[in-house]
Amino acid sequence: MRLDRLLSGQPSWNRRHAQLLLIQGRVRVNNEVIRQGEYEVSQFASVDVDDQSVQHGKAALYLMLNKPAGVVSATTDPEHPTALSLLPQSLQTELHIAGRLDKASTGLLLLTNDGLWSRRITEPELKKPKTYLVTLANPIDPGTAERFAQGIYFEYEGITTSPAQLQQLDSHRARLTIFEGRYHQIKRMFGRFRNPVVGLHRETMGPITLDPLLKAGEYRYLTKAEITAI
Ligand code: URA
Repeated sequence: MRLDRLLSGQPSWNRRHAQLLLIQGRVRVNNEVIRQGEYEVSQFASVDVDDQSVQHGKAALYLMLNKPAGVVSATTDPEHPTALSLLPQSLQTELHIAGRLDKASTGLLLLTNDGLWSRRITEPELKKPKTYLVTLANPIDPGTAERFAQGIYFEYEGITTSPAQLQQLDSHRARLTIFEGRYHQIKRMFGRFRNPVVGLHRETMGPITLDPLLKAGEYRYLTKAEITAI
């Protein structure tokens, strides 16, 4: 929300008061004097006028979870356990998932209450790389890497996927880097070769790598460096 709107929304001030407070340098956001009314204040920032607190600033939360198979990437589900149910109760209502994984898929799942941050990693237009270890039912067709590098046209969305990088590990396994996160993207890409995906494990999202110390179902808070790298 704009800083001037936040101030003039308080019972004791109208728009003119808010402007005066800003001009007089009496308004601090995260302890820094801000004079621009158009300044965008996030829900995580503290806002003070003189020694009066106008907004405390919510704690921003960022976690990674090693998602086990059989768990759905949803906040609620009538049939299956959800990724959020693996976290302490106090966090469950706060967080959303930044980039879902299918029920059978495993590996890196990011959770946060910071919508702007999660968009920076999930927006297809921002083309953040995501790396997966993929296991296929059939031997990988020799033409797969080239077709993926050219992009695959998805009729339903009317888009061509960004050039993806396939590194073949053995006859049935590959490491694949994609740059969006479309619905069932990897299954649909291999579907063009009639090769069902039987195992899908996400290793990285942008600069964040799944912590090898996390066993399936375990989580940890992200470090400052991981949060700011996005
Ligand atoms: N692509 C898929 O098909 N499934 C996932 O879970 C992630 C990417």
